[in-house]
Amino acid sequence: MKKNIVVLAGDGIGPEITGAAVEVLRRVAEKYGHEFAFDYKDMGGCAIDRFGVPLPGETVDACKKADGVLLGAVGGPKWDAQPADNRPEKGLLGIRSALGLYANLRPAVIYPELADASPLKPSVLERGVDVMVVRELIGGIYFGPRAVSEDGQSAYDTEVYSVGEVRRIAKVAFDLAMTRRKKVTSVDKANVLLSSRLWRRTVTEVARDYPEVELNHIYVDNAAMQLVRDPSQFDVLLCPNMFGDILSDEASQITGSIGMLPSSSLGTCKAGLFEPIHGSAPDIAGQDIANPIATVLAAAMMLDNMELHDEARAVEKAVGGVIAAGYRTPDMGAGRRVGCREMGRLIADAI
Ligand code: NAD
Repeated sequence: MKKNIVVLAGDGIGPEITGAAVEVLRRVAEKYGHEFAFDYKDMGGCAIDRFGVPLPGETVDACKKADGVLLGAVGGPKWDAQPADNRPEKGLLGIRSALGLYANLRPAVIYPELADASPLKPSVLERGVDVMVVRELIGGIYFGPRAVSEDGQSAYDTEVYSVGEVRRIAKVAFDLAMTRRKKVTSVDKANVLLSSRLWRRTVTEVARDYPEVELNHIYVDNAAMQLVRDPSQFDVLLCPNMFGDILSDEASQITGSIGMLPSSSLGTCKAGLFEPIHGSAPDIAGQDIANPIATVLAAAMMLDNMELHDEARAVEKAVGGVIAAGYRTPDMGAGRRVGCREMGRLIADAI
């Protein structure tokens, strides 16, 4: 199969971690007889340096035509003095909206060998953690009407959801559940908010098309508590924008390691954006010590989105094998010490 992948390496450790992920993808192509073309484009600080703006038009055009977009990370102190509307992060918001990315997927998985890094007790973790947070990304209170009064003494933001917006994100969650443990837990605050009642009603309607999937509703305050009490009870956690923002950070911390967690954003464009959850880590950039695993796992999510499921599982298995063999970048704690490039090569070799 021929696939066109845009790589937005970005700033800081971005070029190193995407370099490792591309090496893994090249090996996947070789093993499975695919042809992956990698098209490198600028976004973030590097784009400001070259073009004066964080998201050049040619980057947007290339992403729109691509089969997948792999992003490293953007930003760093070099661009701190930029005006607010021309900062590297503006590139990230711009590409999300240009590609209509309404669904953010963040898996939180714990590797038994790295359980020491989790703040949860072993007795809780031994039940297993494999949660997929599905967050609505371009609606809700972050995008509703807002204002500050003239005297600056009051302000409001508005949570607005339409049936159509809830329906499309709910379908993403149920489709995913069908490929997993067939369980969706929908998060809301329907005891207080009218928008949450519409959310709950719509999710319940969508569930009728998925009779094999078990649906539960949970209030957001209870969800926050249950996630640390017993994360094993969750499969797919379906959330409105703000609740998903908060709960996905909580879920990621359960796994204890920022360098391990990928994320994908899907929408109306076929491409989708695949990236690690961490930033550009300027403090360790250029030293070949960054952990590329989050970016490699983001590449696996991209393969899934291209319907290359066996290939995606092979990448995940390779990562698991390398961790089980004891290889660790410095952020992963004690073990057989490797750098970013070598970690990428080990994972590629394990495909
Ligand atoms: P960060 O995630 O870059 O780093 C936080 C800490 O985690 C640092 O100590 C860093 O060394 C470490 N770390 C992060 N990723 C790692 C990896 N793969 N391997 C090993 N250690 C890793 O967050 P920050 O320091 O708050 O932000 C740095 C820059 O990144 C800022 O300019 C910020 O705006 C930007 N940022 C970008 C994104 C993105 O592109 N999606 C997300 C968050 C932050």
